[in-house]
Amino acid sequence: MQERGIYHMIKGAIHSTESFGSVDGPGIRFLIFLKGCRMRCRYCHNADTWDPRSDDMRTADELLDQAERYRSYWGKEGGITVSGGEPLLQIDFLLDLFRKAKARGIHTVIDTAGEPFTREEPFFSKFQELMQVTDLLLMDIKHIDPEEHRKLTGRQNDNILEMFRYLSSIGKPVWIRYVLVPGITDGDGFLKKTREFISTLENVRKIEVLPYHSMGEYKWKELGIPYSLEGVEPPGTDSVKYAECILRGESGDPHEKISGS
Ligand code: SF4
Repeated sequence: MQERGIYHMIKGAIHSTESFGSVDGPGIRFLIFLKGCRMRCRYCHNADTWDPRSDDMRTADELLDQAERYRSYWGKEGGITVSGGEPLLQIDFLLDLFRKAKARGIHTVIDTAGEPFTREEPFFSKFQELMQVTDLLLMDIKHIDPEEHRKLTGRQNDNILEMFRYLSSIGKPVWIRYVLVPGITDGDGFLKKTREFISTLENVRKIEVLPYHSMGEYKWKELGIPYSLEGVEPPGTDSVKYAECILRGESGDPHEKISGS
Protein backbone atom coordinates (compact mmCIF):
# COMPACT_ATOMS: atom_id res chain seq x y z
CA MET A 1 0.00 0.00 0.00
CA GLN A 2 2.84 2.29 0.82
CA GLU A 3 4.27 1.73 -2.65
CA ARG A 4 0.99 2.74 -4.27
CA GLY A 5 1.08 5.89 -2.19
CA ILE A 6 4.54 6.76 -3.45
CA TYR A 7 3.65 6.16 -7.10
CA HIS A 8 0.48 8.19 -6.72
CA MET A 9 2.70 11.22 -6.14
CA ILE A 10 5.04 10.71 -9.09
CA LYS A 11 4.94 13.20 -11.89
CA GLY A 12 6.79 13.01 -15.18
CA ALA A 13 8.81 15.90 -16.57
CA ILE A 14 7.14 16.27 -19.96
CA HIS A 15 8.58 17.90 -23.07
CA SER A 16 5.53 17.51 -25.32
CA THR A 17 2.88 15.12 -26.63
CA GLU A 18 1.64 14.25 -30.11
CA SER A 19 -1.79 12.78 -30.75
CA PHE A 20 -1.22 10.87 -34.00
CA GLY A 21 2.22 9.27 -34.25
CA SER A 22 2.51 6.81 -37.12
CA VAL A 23 6.21 5.82 -37.20
CA ASP A 24 7.13 5.25 -33.55
CA GLY A 25 5.72 1.76 -33.11
CA PRO A 26 2.85 -0.18 -34.69
CA GLY A 27 -0.42 1.51 -35.70
CA ILE A 28 -1.46 5.02 -34.72
CA ARG A 29 0.01 6.07 -31.37
CA PHE A 30 -0.17 8.78 -28.77
CA LEU A 31 3.42 9.97 -28.27
CA ILE A 32 4.81 11.28 -25.00
CA PHE A 33 8.22 12.98 -25.08
CA LEU A 34 9.95 13.13 -21.71
CA LYS A 35 12.61 15.61 -20.69
CA GLY A 36 16.23 14.75 -19.95
CA CYS A 37 19.06 13.05 -21.83
CA ARG A 38 22.71 12.52 -20.87
CA MET A 39 23.84 11.64 -24.37
CA ARG A 40 24.94 14.34 -26.77
CA CYS A 41 24.48 12.73 -30.16
CA ARG A 42 26.00 15.01 -32.74
CA TYR A 43 22.91 14.71 -34.95
CA CYS A 44 20.33 15.05 -32.16
CA HIS A 45 17.19 16.76 -33.45
CA ASN A 46 15.70 17.01 -29.96
CA ALA A 47 18.41 19.01 -28.21
CA ASP A 48 15.66 20.95 -26.46
CA THR A 49 14.83 17.78 -24.49
CA TRP A 50 18.29 17.43 -22.87
CA ASP A 51 17.60 19.58 -19.81
CA PRO A 52 15.75 17.35 -17.31
CA ARG A 53 13.77 20.25 -15.88
CA SER A 54 10.29 21.00 -17.14
CA ASP A 55 7.47 23.41 -16.37
CA ASP A 56 5.09 20.71 -17.55
CA MET A 57 4.88 18.08 -14.78
CA ARG A 58 2.08 15.54 -15.15
CA THR A 59 0.83 12.37 -13.50
CA ALA A 60 0.35 9.06 -15.31
CA ASP A 61 -3.43 9.34 -15.07
CA GLU A 62 -3.45 12.86 -16.50
CA LEU A 63 -1.48 11.66 -19.53
CA LEU A 64 -3.48 8.47 -19.98
CA ASP A 65 -6.77 10.38 -19.81
CA GLN A 66 -5.46 12.66 -22.55
CA ALA A 67 -4.16 9.71 -24.62
CA GLU A 68 -7.45 7.82 -24.39
CA ARG A 69 -9.30 10.62 -26.13
CA TYR A 70 -7.67 9.28 -29.30
CA ARG A 71 -8.19 5.61 -28.53
CA SER A 72 -10.77 5.11 -31.27
CA TYR A 73 -8.03 5.84 -33.85
CA TRP A 74 -5.58 3.28 -32.48
CA GLY A 75 -7.22 0.17 -33.95
CA LYS A 76 -5.82 -3.19 -32.89
CA GLU A 77 -2.15 -2.26 -33.03
CA GLY A 78 -1.85 1.29 -31.72
CA GLY A 79 -1.33 2.63 -28.24
CA ILE A 80 1.18 4.87 -26.52
CA THR A 81 4.90 5.40 -27.14
CA VAL A 82 7.14 7.15 -24.65
CA SER A 83 10.15 8.84 -26.21
CA GLY A 84 12.40 11.75 -25.34
CA GLY A 85 14.95 12.73 -24.42
CA GLU A 86 15.75 9.48 -22.72
CA PRO A 87 12.66 7.97 -21.06
CA LEU A 88 14.61 5.49 -18.90
CA LEU A 89 16.00 8.42 -16.90
CA GLN A 90 12.49 8.75 -15.42
CA ILE A 91 12.08 5.04 -14.77
CA ASP A 92 9.89 5.46 -11.65
CA PHE A 93 7.43 7.57 -13.59
CA LEU A 94 7.61 5.26 -16.61
CA LEU A 95 6.85 2.25 -14.43
CA ASP A 96 3.84 3.99 -12.93
CA LEU A 97 2.64 5.13 -16.36
CA PHE A 98 2.95 1.69 -17.97
CA ARG A 99 1.42 -0.18 -15.04
CA LYS A 100 -1.59 2.09 -15.28
CA ALA A 101 -1.62 1.87 -19.08
CA LYS A 102 -1.68 -1.93 -18.87
CA ALA A 103 -4.53 -1.77 -16.34
CA ARG A 104 -6.41 0.18 -19.04
CA GLY A 105 -5.46 -2.40 -21.72
CA ILE A 106 -3.17 -0.04 -23.65
CA HIS A 107 -0.26 -1.24 -25.85
CA THR A 108 3.03 0.25 -24.55
CA VAL A 109 6.23 1.13 -26.41
CA ILE A 110 9.47 2.76 -25.22
CA ASP A 111 11.71 4.60 -27.66
CA THR A 112 15.14 4.57 -26.01
CA ALA A 113 18.87 4.83 -26.61
CA GLY A 114 19.47 2.58 -23.58
CA GLU A 115 22.06 4.87 -22.03
CA PRO A 116 20.86 4.59 -18.39
CA PHE A 117 20.86 0.78 -18.47
CA THR A 118 22.82 -0.99 -15.75
CA ARG A 119 22.50 -4.29 -13.95
CA GLU A 120 23.15 -2.44 -10.71
CA GLU A 121 20.43 -1.76 -8.18
CA PRO A 122 18.05 -0.10 -7.73
CA PHE A 123 17.81 0.42 -11.52
CA PHE A 124 17.84 -3.21 -12.60
CA SER A 125 14.90 -4.41 -10.48
CA LYS A 126 12.84 -1.48 -11.67
CA PHE A 127 13.80 -2.21 -15.25
CA GLN A 128 12.80 -5.86 -14.88
CA GLU A 129 9.42 -4.75 -13.58
CA LEU A 130 9.10 -2.22 -16.37
CA MET A 131 9.65 -4.94 -18.95
CA GLN A 132 6.65 -6.83 -17.58
CA VAL A 133 4.41 -3.94 -18.64
CA THR A 134 6.25 -3.00 -21.87
CA ASP A 135 5.17 -4.55 -25.16
CA LEU A 136 7.95 -3.33 -27.46
CA LEU A 137 11.14 -1.26 -27.43
CA LEU A 138 12.44 0.89 -30.25
CA MET A 139 16.14 1.01 -29.59
CA ASP A 140 19.00 2.75 -31.32
CA ILE A 141 22.39 1.38 -32.12
CA LYS A 142 24.23 4.67 -32.41
CA HIS A 143 27.61 3.13 -33.19
CA ILE A 144 29.00 -0.38 -32.71
CA ASP A 145 32.58 0.75 -32.15
CA PRO A 146 33.18 1.85 -28.53
CA GLU A 147 35.50 4.73 -29.39
CA GLU A 148 33.40 5.98 -32.32
CA HIS A 149 30.33 5.71 -30.09
CA ARG A 150 31.97 7.92 -27.53
CA LYS A 151 32.91 10.46 -30.18
CA LEU A 152 29.39 10.45 -31.65
CA THR A 153 27.37 10.52 -28.42
CA GLY A 154 29.72 11.44 -25.57
CA ARG A 155 28.92 8.15 -23.77
CA GLN A 156 30.10 4.55 -23.72
CA ASN A 157 28.18 1.77 -25.48
CA ASP A 158 29.01 -1.35 -23.45
CA ASN A 159 26.00 -1.04 -21.14
CA ILE A 160 23.78 -0.29 -24.15
CA LEU A 161 24.89 -3.48 -25.91
CA GLU A 162 24.37 -5.28 -22.61
CA MET A 163 20.78 -4.01 -22.57
CA PHE A 164 20.23 -5.50 -26.03
CA ARG A 165 21.57 -8.84 -24.77
CA TYR A 166 19.35 -8.74 -21.72
CA LEU A 167 16.25 -7.96 -23.80
CA SER A 168 17.13 -10.86 -26.07
CA SER A 169 17.54 -13.18 -23.08
CA ILE A 170 14.00 -12.40 -21.90
CA GLY A 171 12.55 -12.46 -25.43
CA LYS A 172 11.31 -8.85 -25.34
CA PRO A 173 10.53 -7.64 -28.88
CA VAL A 174 12.78 -4.88 -30.21
CA TRP A 175 12.85 -2.72 -33.31
CA ILE A 176 16.39 -1.57 -33.98
CA ARG A 177 17.04 1.89 -35.37
CA TYR A 178 20.30 2.95 -36.98
CA VAL A 179 20.93 6.53 -38.02
CA LEU A 180 23.06 6.56 -41.16
CA VAL A 181 25.47 9.49 -41.01
CA PRO A 182 27.84 9.83 -43.99
CA GLY A 183 31.45 9.49 -42.90
CA ILE A 184 30.50 8.42 -39.36
CA THR A 185 28.18 5.41 -39.26
CA ASP A 186 28.11 4.29 -42.90
CA GLY A 187 31.51 2.56 -43.09
CA ASP A 188 31.33 -0.95 -44.50
CA GLY A 189 33.30 -2.46 -41.62
CA PHE A 190 31.08 -0.79 -39.02
CA LEU A 191 27.90 -1.92 -40.77
CA LYS A 192 29.15 -5.51 -40.93
CA LYS A 193 30.21 -5.47 -37.30
CA THR A 194 26.79 -4.13 -36.35
CA ARG A 195 25.19 -6.94 -38.34
CA GLU A 196 27.35 -9.47 -36.51
CA PHE A 197 26.05 -8.12 -33.22
CA ILE A 198 22.42 -8.05 -34.38
CA SER A 199 22.69 -11.65 -35.55
CA THR A 200 23.43 -12.73 -31.95
CA LEU A 201 20.03 -11.37 -30.83
CA GLU A 202 16.84 -13.41 -30.95
CA ASN A 203 14.25 -10.71 -30.32
CA VAL A 204 14.69 -8.32 -33.26
CA ARG A 205 11.41 -7.80 -35.12
CA LYS A 206 12.45 -4.95 -37.39
CA ILE A 207 15.58 -3.04 -38.44
CA GLU A 208 15.14 0.52 -39.64
CA VAL A 209 17.85 2.68 -41.21
CA LEU A 210 17.10 6.35 -40.68
CA PRO A 211 18.96 8.73 -42.98
CA TYR A 212 20.73 11.53 -41.16
CA HIS A 213 19.07 14.91 -41.56
CA SER A 214 19.87 18.31 -40.13
CA MET A 215 16.32 19.44 -39.37
CA GLY A 216 17.07 19.83 -35.67
CA GLU A 217 20.13 21.99 -36.28
CA TYR A 218 18.22 25.20 -35.51
CA LYS A 219 17.54 23.94 -31.96
CA TRP A 220 21.29 23.76 -31.31
CA LYS A 221 21.60 27.32 -32.52
CA GLU A 222 18.74 28.41 -30.24
CA LEU A 223 20.57 26.77 -27.32
CA GLY A 224 23.79 28.49 -28.33
CA ILE A 225 25.63 25.17 -28.87
CA PRO A 226 27.85 24.72 -31.95
CA TYR A 227 26.49 22.10 -34.36
CA SER A 228 29.44 19.94 -35.35
CA LEU A 229 27.83 18.23 -38.35
CA GLU A 230 27.30 21.44 -40.26
CA GLY A 231 27.78 20.75 -43.97
CA VAL A 232 27.19 16.99 -43.72
CA GLU A 233 24.65 16.05 -46.36
CA PRO A 234 21.96 13.36 -45.88
CA PRO A 235 22.96 9.97 -47.33
CA GLY A 236 21.66 9.00 -50.78
CA THR A 237 18.92 6.43 -51.29
CA ASP A 238 21.43 3.81 -52.46
CA SER A 239 23.52 4.19 -49.31
CA VAL A 240 20.41 3.72 -47.19
CA LYS A 241 19.39 0.63 -49.15
CA TYR A 242 22.92 -0.76 -48.91
CA ALA A 243 22.96 -0.27 -45.13
CA GLU A 244 19.54 -1.91 -44.86
CA CYS A 245 20.77 -4.94 -46.81
CA ILE A 246 23.81 -5.34 -44.59
CA LEU A 247 22.08 -4.72 -41.26
CA ARG A 248 19.16 -6.99 -42.10
CA GLY A 249 21.55 -9.74 -43.18
CA GLU A 250 19.87 -10.09 -46.57
CA SER A 251 21.60 -12.67 -48.72
CA GLY A 252 23.32 -11.88 -52.01
CA ASP A 253 25.43 -8.92 -53.10
CA PRO A 254 23.86 -5.70 -51.78
CA HIS A 255 25.39 -3.70 -54.64
CA GLU A 256 23.62 -5.89 -57.21
CA LYS A 257 20.30 -5.51 -55.41
CA ILE A 258 20.62 -1.74 -55.43
CA SER A 259 21.59 -1.42 -59.07
CA GLY A 260 18.81 -3.85 -60.01
CA SER A 261 16.15 -2.01 -58.01
S1 SF4 B 1 19.84 9.89 -27.26
FE1 SF4 B 1 18.27 10.91 -28.47
S2 SF4 B 1 17.67 12.73 -27.30
FE2 SF4 B 1 19.62 12.00 -26.45
S3 SF4 B 1 21.19 13.17 -27.53
FE3 SF4 B 1 20.90 11.25 -28.65
S4 SF4 B 1 19.40 11.68 -30.25
FE4 SF4 B 1 19.29 13.34 -28.70
